[in-house]
Amino acid sequence: MDFVLSCAFMKAPPARAKKKPSPAKNRSAKTASKGKPPNTEPVRVAGILAGLDAMYPDAVCELTHENPFQLLIATILSAQCTDVRVNQVTASLFKKYRTAKDFAAASSAELEQEIRPTGFFRNKTKSVIGASKSLVENFGSVVPRTMEEILTLPGVARKTGNVVLGVGYGIAVGVVVDTHVIRLSNRLDLTHHAEPKKIEQDLMQILPKEKWIQFSHQLIWHGRRVCVARKPRCGDCRIEPLCYAKDKTSWSSPESAPRR
Ligand code: SF4
Repeated sequence: MDFVLSCAFMKAPPARAKKKPSPAKNRSAKTASKGKPPNTEPVRVAGILAGLDAMYPDAVCELTHENPFQLLIATILSAQCTDVRVNQVTASLFKKYRTAKDFAAASSAELEQEIRPTGFFRNKTKSVIGASKSLVENFGSVVPRTMEEILTLPGVARKTGNVVLGVGYGIAVGVVVDTHVIRLSNRLDLTHHAEPKKIEQDLMQILPKEKWIQFSHQLIWHGRRVCVARKPRCGDCRIEPLCYAKDKTSWSSPESAPRR
């Protein structure tokens, strides 16, 4: 009988009760893992960027729009709503309201019902009409090209500013941080923050500026198509060798293959 087999037949010693870690030790273990910085080694970041490029070379903003103003309105409507739903709503909305002046003069009650399917419709109506009025009164009905000016529009925060400047004008002043970017940048250990502003700062530190716009499109596409919240399809993921997320799987499916 070889050693391994004989060991299997040996009577196991009585199980000893596991010693509970003292509160102090427990606390320090937690602190240690919390204190560990994100893994933003330039080689690793470059590998992640290359993997995203390979998977999503043509990633774009999926909100339908014909100009920066429509993109601004669509982005306001996209809060807590899918792009698909927003596109369904704006398909008819942008036929009825064509300019900032049209939206500025809209009836709140009517607009509320028109954008109701996007959720939070009362607040969104206030933002859409308020932003449109401000554009008419202060910016000659043209969406401004600086973050400082865009942030003066009612209901418009940095995420919307980054979308409009990046996608609408090709101006990179920051990184769009939406729910997917929050989730994936943490899952990929590129940041340990939950607050969008801090995540954006972290990403701006580690990404080359020429990647700021495209990176967020790619991460959003990845979060929608492969690196989904529950049961990510890691078998389809080109950055899997660089990822050590605890909830990694080996799952892949033909339908989940990255869309090109
Ligand atoms: S390996 Fe899995 S968890 Fe990691 S980024 Fe890819 S899909 Fe997401």
